[in-house]
Order: sequence, then structure tokens, then C-alpha cells
Amino acid sequence: MDASALPPNETLLTSAALLARQAERESNARTYPRGLPLAIAHARGCEVYSVEGRRYLDFFSGAGVLAVGHNHPKVVEAVRAQLDLVVHALDLPTPTRDQFVSDVLELLPRGLRDQMRLHICAPTGSDAIEAALKLCKRATGREPVVAFQGAYHGMTTGALAATSCSELRSYLPGLLGVTFAPYSYCKRCPLKLELGRCGTACAAMFETLLEDSHSGVSRPAAVLMEFVQGEGGGIVPRPEFAARIGRAAQKHGVPLIADEIQAGLGRTGRWFAFEHFDVQPDVIALSKALGGIGLPIAAILYRKELDVWEPGTHIGTFRGHQLAMAAGSAAIRVIRSEGYLDNASERGAQLKAALASLSLSCIGEVRGLGLMLGIELIDPATGAASGERARAVRAECFARGLLCELGGRADATVRLLPPLCLSAAEATEGAEILLQSLRSVHARFGG
Ligand code: PMP
Repeated sequence: MDASALPPNETLLTSAALLARQAERESNARTYPRGLPLAIAHARGCEVYSVEGRRYLDFFSGAGVLAVGHNHPKVVEAVRAQLDLVVHALDLPTPTRDQFVSDVLELLPRGLRDQMRLHICAPTGSDAIEAALKLCKRATGREPVVAFQGAYHGMTTGALAATSCSELRSYLPGLLGVTFAPYSYCKRCPLKLELGRCGTACAAMFETLLEDSHSGVSRPAAVLMEFVQGEGGGIVPRPEFAARIGRAAQKHGVPLIADEIQAGLGRTGRWFAFEHFDVQPDVIALSKALGGIGLPIAAILYRKELDVWEPGTHIGTFRGHQLAMAAGSAAIRVIRSEGYLDNASERGAQLKAALASLSLSCIGEVRGLGLMLGIELIDPATGAASGERARAVRAECFARGLLCELGGRADATVRLLPPLCLSAAEATEGAEILLQSLRSVHARFGG
């Protein structure tokens, strides 16, 4: 469609027209409109409405941002009240900021709460990762970083250097300084070993990296890890793996950074994903759900001993977003008062049970914790991850009114990240659409 031939903005009411205008005027690097071709008019809770008035159930939540759903009324109210006070305050203290810092620190498990400080970053997850790496490099005086295969940490140079996807890395040549250790991804064991007989060799490889003076890795400044890999396809590591990574890092005096940007703030049924494991991180990176209704903010929490960086070591103009802080505090209150942590576990179990009722040879694995789930699609003939099938499932879901996204190796994992306020009825409705879509794709592709 020739967008210049279209009527002025306000009369453009169809998704197709708005998508066409966007395609003509905005960057080729845009992504979501390609897989989820709708223009949004408004949204509430788990529901999104297109400009045509079509209702979609949102099982993606703005890439895991909308923990309490779209436009939660209590959070919106807190933002409105803050608008009358102050919006931008750099890093000067305000009562709102003070409350926000208390609210976030209080999320930590008891043993960590009094040991941590908080730094508010520029408002993206990537910047929280940059800050975390810089903090550890300043504190240790060392440079190398160990991250994990399958990891996603963001798009800025330092965060991308710790992101494992070769395609994403190829867009910015020259990324250095990070060694990638195997992650505990048992469906496709990176060491090609058999579960139960492997001795968690992936953890042993990590231990060797730190222990062996000939491993080729000088003592790292930090180990950076997601305790559930999000973009990696909802991969949950074996408990023993996570515990051994933590123990080895501690033994060798290497700060462990937990990237909780996607998994944190309740998505896995606990405030932090690391709480499912016998491990205590030294640094925690947060963003996404931290801004309540999708207002941008990011932060790191870290052990006080690491706080040896100088004033101004990590700054950013928008690190004082009062609306996001007011929203974050309000969202934390809502998650508590509405019991959304338990709801995430219960609805996650409900979705898993519904998916387990379907035995299709193209479903390689259903995995995840809480409301951070992945369905890995495979080609039944070869067992290879099938991005083609996953794309077809996303399209079928979309046609039936369900928004979900893809991730993982070959983009073959359908990722489910519904808001934590998902009701049992909405979970049933979403599961039904998923099952229909999976059946239909299976019938089309065969196998
Ligand atoms: N870490 C993880 C685990 C993420 O999922 C993301 C975003 N998907 C990031 C970091 C980067 O966050 P942002 O896109 O806000 O920079």
C-alpha cells in the first residue's frame, strides 16, 4: 500500500493502514509488527484491543513488562498523583524515590536485604547490565566476564557482548571480553550427554574455567547469569547446576550477577528467579516490570562491599523517572495484596497441565517456571528445533486472538509471558487457543 496516499493520521483506523504507514516511515529494524501485525487502540489487564475493536488475549505482556497487566487502575492512580508532584528529578532524593528504594530492597530474601544497595540506571535493562558489569570491573579491577550459552542480556555493546546469539552478535562486529560457558539445557545438552548420567558436566566445565590455570580465562570480574533463560526459550537450569555455579563463583571471589530483568518481580512465582535455587547473587539487574505499567526504569542491587565505584561512574539523564518509581511501588503493592506470586505459580501449572494433555510429536518440550513458559516445537522426523512450526503456531494463535512470541534456538520456542494477574478463566481461554493452534499446525505440517 502507498502510505502517502492515505488520509491524515487521525482517520487511519485500520491496523493494515497503520502498519503500512509505519513500514514506510519507520526503521527496518522494527520487529514485533512483523509477527504480531496489529495496531493497538487500548488495553486493560490481560486484554489488548486493536484499532478495529478486535480483542486479543495478551500472553506476551510487552515482553514480560506488564506484571500487573495493562493499565492496572491502582498503578495508573499512583502515576496520576505523581504527575502533580514532580516527574523528572535526576538522582536527587524525593519521597517517591525513597519509598521506591525501600520497596525494592524489601523484595530481597531476608539474608540479603541488609547487605545490598541500589543504583538506579538509565531506563533500560541493557543499561542495568552495563552498570552491573562496570560495577564488578571497578570493584575487582579485573576485566574478563563469563556468561552462558543461550543468554540474552541486551543490545548495548557490553550487554550484547554477553549475549550468545550469533546472529545478533554479527550485527556489531568486534564484541570481546566474554567467555561463554555451557548452560544447563538438558533438552539439547550442549555436551551431548544423557540426563541422569551426565554428572552435571556443564557445571564441571564452569568450575574448570575458574579453577584451571590453563583454562584460558583469567580470573573473571563477573559471572553473568539468567536463572531462567528468557529469550533463550524459557530454559530452567537443573538445581544442581545453579547451585554449583554459585558455589564456584563464591569460592573464587567472582561476583555473580543475576540478570532478573525478565524473570524478576514475580514472573516465576517468586520475587526473583534465583530464589528457586540454592544460590545467592552478589548483583541483581532489574528492569521491565519495575516500572509498573510499562514506564521505563532499570536498577541494580548489589552487595555493599562492591560499592567502591566513584561518584559519576555510571550516570544517565533519565535515572530519576518519578512516574516509573511511583508506578513500581504501586505495582509491588498490588502484586502483594492481590497474591499475584501464588497466582503466577497456579496459572503456570494450569497452562502446563493443559499443554500436557496434548500429545503431539511436534511438541519437543514444555518448560518454564510460573508464568514464564516455553513450548519448543520440533520437526518430528529429525527432532530438530522447528522455527517454521513455531512461527505457524504464533500466526494461528494471532488469528484466533492470542498474542504470544518466539524465542530460543532457531526461534522454535513459543514463549508465554502472560501478566501475573491472569485469571483462571483467561488461562483456560488462552490454553484452548494454544491447543487448537498446535493441533492445526501439526495437521498442516504432518509428522
Ligand atoms: N536481560 C534480559 C534477561 C532480557 O530479557 C532483556 C530484554 N529482553 C534485557 C536484558 C535487555 O533489556 P532492554 O531490552 O530493556 O534493554
